[in-house]
Amino acid sequence: MEKLINELRLVVQKRHSRNYIYKQVACIWNFQIIIREIKPNLINMRLYSTNLQAEEVSFETALIAGLAPDKGLYMPKTLPGFSEEELLSLKDEPYPEIAFQILKKILKDEIDEESLKEITYDAYNYDVPLEKVDDITYIMRLDRGPTASFKDFAARMMARLMQYYLKKEERQLTILTATSGDTGSAVAHAFYGLDNIRVIVLFPQDEVSDRQRKQMTTLGENITALSIDGKFDDCQAMVKQAFADEELSHLNLSSANSINIGRLVPQSIYYFYAYLKLRDYPEELIVSIPSGNFGNMMGCVLAKTMGVPIKKILASVNENDEVPTFLDCGKYAKIVPSKNCLSNAMNVGHPSNLSRLIAIYGGEMDEKGNVNRMPDMEGLRQDISSTSVTDKETKAIMKEFFDDYNILIEPHGAVGIKGLRDYRELTKDNTLAVTLETAHPAKFPEEVSSVVGVDPELPESLQKIESGEEHMESLTTDYASFKEYLKMKLE
Ligand SMILES: *Cc1c(COP(=O)(O)O)cnc(C)c1O
Repeated sequence: MEKLINELRLVVQKRHSRNYIYKQVACIWNFQIIIREIKPNLINMRLYSTNLQAEEVSFETALIAGLAPDKGLYMPKTLPGFSEEELLSLKDEPYPEIAFQILKKILKDEIDEESLKEITYDAYNYDVPLEKVDDITYIMRLDRGPTASFKDFAARMMARLMQYYLKKEERQLTILTATSGDTGSAVAHAFYGLDNIRVIVLFPQDEVSDRQRKQMTTLGENITALSIDGKFDDCQAMVKQAFADEELSHLNLSSANSINIGRLVPQSIYYFYAYLKLRDYPEELIVSIPSGNFGNMMGCVLAKTMGVPIKKILASVNENDEVPTFLDCGKYAKIVPSKNCLSNAMNVGHPSNLSRLIAIYGGEMDEKGNVNRMPDMEGLRQDISSTSVTDKETKAIMKEFFDDYNILIEPHGAVGIKGLRDYRELTKDNTLAVTLETAHPAKFPEEVSSVVGVDPELPESLQKIESGEEHMESLTTDYASFKEYLKMKLE
């Protein structure tokens, strides 16, 4: 414990520059740091890069840039702490109000209150059901947004925040994003029809479902869909290389996938929401998160850091098990190429958000996956458990939930449920838990109907997409031709 406290102090000192004039208190609580600001209204959010070689920036700069100039990911240097009274005062509020109140405290005067309120109410105009399975288990359905994916939560907020800043400064921007399925459509829909922003989405041609593809290709206007003859990791590598390419810097490229801080912050809100609706402070909650790039899970880490009493974060993954292996043995090895699993939005062999997780626990991982400084593994294991779930187990859960509980689940949600079940079997811990359903079963009709034998009903938002005409362009994984394409398209 003594060693851990010293380690945490070091982390705190490293994160706060000497000329940081406002006093900060780091209190150690449940083995983790909460940085509480004494004068919260006077301090705006500052962000550092996980590679520690770039200057600190404001939220607006990090939001528009996406990736830091040293190729690291931006992380908030400080976060507000939420007290028991503050948390409980939000208990009866609807989702958009909770989002507004929390974001107001995180973003402070990076944005005026009136605009922020308008943005949150406009972004979150759909339900967030908490479905009871049994006395100790709930499913939080994050699948009621316009593209029926949890990524709507982040993408809609980020798009509106970007629009706010770009309009203010009369600037143009091109969003370049790689998707393994759901990000692309959520991002495309979130930005569709906006004036100052163009979107180019790269997707692996054989790894997305028909429906996921149609969600990207039927929009047109400021949205371009690019089909890549490769895997998600190839798409992501191409996007990352384009961002780092100085010869493309004049094109005003920005990212909108899970590496953007503008996506991460809104992904912390639904953990507050689940807690507020299910528990009373200081009762604890366990959360199981189907994870691929670990952006969703990082949102949960942020929520826990801000004071939501989350006892354990379960990062449940498919057969791409590099993170459970890392937590088990402390050695990190990417999986190249990533394995194709039923939960295809989680086929990630090297999650980019891992460097953020490692940063929060005092370590340093570069963009290639080299761990230059080990994080506090004990602290990590205290807060987070990660299990790998096979496709066979995924199918068994989908079937069982339909047969026994009459609850229809798609493959990603099933991975989350199985992760929770494994954890309970191992620890006998029966603390109330919420597991996330990250997409609507209708987004995976073939998988769902072949396993449970019913055709999931299409939500209204997805019905429209089915009938639209598809437009897309195709490229190989060759970076040079991708670069030429961008220049031709954007110069
Ligand atoms: C993107 C996605 C995930 C994984 O989320 P990460 O933030 O990348 O870990 C899980 N389920 C679905 C349906 C997704 O689209």
